[in-house]
Amino acid sequence: MLALNDLTIEKMQIQLADLGLKPYRVEQIFRWTASGADDWEQMSNVPLTLREKLSLQFLLRSVKIITKRQSRLDSTRKYLMQMHDGALVESVLMEYKHGFSACISTQVGCRMGCAFCASAQGGLERNLTPAEMLGQIVAMQNDADVRISNIVLMGMGEPLDNYANVLDFLHIINNHMGLNIGLRHISVSTCGLADKIRSLADEGVPICLSVSLHASTDEVRQRIMPVAKRFSLNEVLSACRFFSGKTGRRISFEYILIDGLNDSNDDAKRLARLVAGMPSHVNLIPANPCGDGKFSASNRVLEFRDRLMKLGVNTTIRRTLGSDISASCGQLRRQSLPSQPDIIA
Ligand code: SAH
Repeated sequence: MLALNDLTIEKMQIQLADLGLKPYRVEQIFRWTASGADDWEQMSNVPLTLREKLSLQFLLRSVKIITKRQSRLDSTRKYLMQMHDGALVESVLMEYKHGFSACISTQVGCRMGCAFCASAQGGLERNLTPAEMLGQIVAMQNDADVRISNIVLMGMGEPLDNYANVLDFLHIINNHMGLNIGLRHISVSTCGLADKIRSLADEGVPICLSVSLHASTDEVRQRIMPVAKRFSLNEVLSACRFFSGKTGRRISFEYILIDGLNDSNDDAKRLARLVAGMPSHVNLIPANPCGDGKFSASNRVLEFRDRLMKLGVNTTIRRTLGSDISASCGQLRRQSLPSQPDIIA
């Protein structure tokens, strides 16, 4: 059965065409689904008979918070969320000076197989639907009683490997009848599916694109990221130039610094050459322990940043929020829900 809250307004108009509803009625229903209604009863201004009719034809997906951890170091909250079929994903709520930011998952698991990443370890279970992405945001917003103003698609999964659903989700949360979150306030993080980066550019969706580079040569990248065998650094960077040219957006490159693997002075030089001439910014990430101890954090983070800056690259170091609550991608789900005292929901 099709879920009504998976639909963009355009798709809803098509799906409900047979019912012969007035356009305002369809909009009324969309306002509910796009703001997170997951129960027919909530749609108080839609006639009961229509709601009953809809419930026979469509379902509404809901997302439930199973576990919540609150950091003692900062206000970061990490959630484990359950989908209707029991699938579990992680979401994180972070507070910045400019407001609240939600980091959400786009897939249950991931099939990209990056060697350092906790989400990759069990492979891909399934894609999340638009309503399941929206549901994570609404659940956190209600739980914390805040308004979320920024979204990052940087939780579990590879957003561009679930392209159609992610695109519909972006249209739903961007719609003024829904959460009305500007595309410029949404970051999509990808391991570098160059073909999909180009499609996104063609689509003219001016989101903030974050690309996980993590290496300055194809050889090293292929060792830690299987996707690098499909798309070389050159292909990824040329897709990024295309995206930036089409949308006018600057690209953010993520670079995990791993001890002895990608943190040399030569790496800094090569990285600077790769991103040269493109409106961009490099975000250095101190590696979180993962991959059975094969990868340890580099202690050259500051030095690496200084070298990049001297080479003219805009460089920042990722703030580590929620480091006491396994707030990084895939870590909480992997821990199979231990009952620790800081689990408060
Ligand atoms: N699939 C997307 C988004 C999810 S991962 C992507 O690859 O970008 C979100 C970010 O966390 C990516 O930059 C990823 O490389 C990084 N990440 C994964 N495991 C990590 C670890 N152990 N330490 C630090 N960052 C990690």
